[in-house]
Amino acid sequence: MTSQRTRSRLVQRLQDQGITDPQVLDVMASTPRHIFIDEALSHRAYEDTALPIGFNQTISQPYIVAKMTELLLAEGPMKKVLEVGTGSGYQTTVLAQLVDQVYSVERIRPLQEKARKRLQLLSLRNVHLRHTDGGMGWAERGPFDGILVTAAPEQVPPELLQQLAIGGRLVIPVGGRQQELKLVIRQSEMEFTTEVLEAVKFVPLLSGTVR
Ligand code: SAH
Repeated sequence: MTSQRTRSRLVQRLQDQGITDPQVLDVMASTPRHIFIDEALSHRAYEDTALPIGFNQTISQPYIVAKMTELLLAEGPMKKVLEVGTGSGYQTTVLAQLVDQVYSVERIRPLQEKARKRLQLLSLRNVHLRHTDGGMGWAERGPFDGILVTAAPEQVPPELLQQLAIGGRLVIPVGGRQQELKLVIRQSEMEFTTEVLEAVKFVPLLSGTVR
């Protein structure tokens, strides 16, 4: 179930779906996804599917984690990345192995606490967690070279655009029932370009926090 062979099969699937970045594929191969999932479901950890993690939330599908990470890092390595929606901590863990510092915010406290334990178990020391409504970003720690959002707002939150460094990249699902994955690049202080990539399905970005 957790064997290297099972993980290699998953990576083969990711390659079949067009993921090519060797560093991303390596990290996907070595990250133990089963520890981010409750035991009752952990036998399905290496299927390429989203799975429930409680509180009506899901751990993202491996393909989408790989895709978003590859898009974020397509122009080279990054020092500071903000993740909105820590959830299980799986995407956080993938990022932490590829960039210098990860700042990750989550609005549901119990999910954040579980994620924190897993990150400690994996001895990841370059991750900074905060319990907050991430629609506002994390202004005190910005600007960020990259921002990756794992829940879908109806529109790109302006606060996130403001917290992007010049040249910074924002990867974000946008929409309601119909969602699109977008890549926004901050070309200069005032100029942003947007590329629409593919149809996706994320849980909604909600406002406020849950204790
Ligand atoms: N990256 C996660 C995906 C979790 S699903 C993983 O790999 O497991 C999306 C997460 O975004 C949920 O945990 C949800 O609670 C969180 N979320 C939704 N709206 C948010 C907001 N405004 N601020 C912070 N987190 C938010």
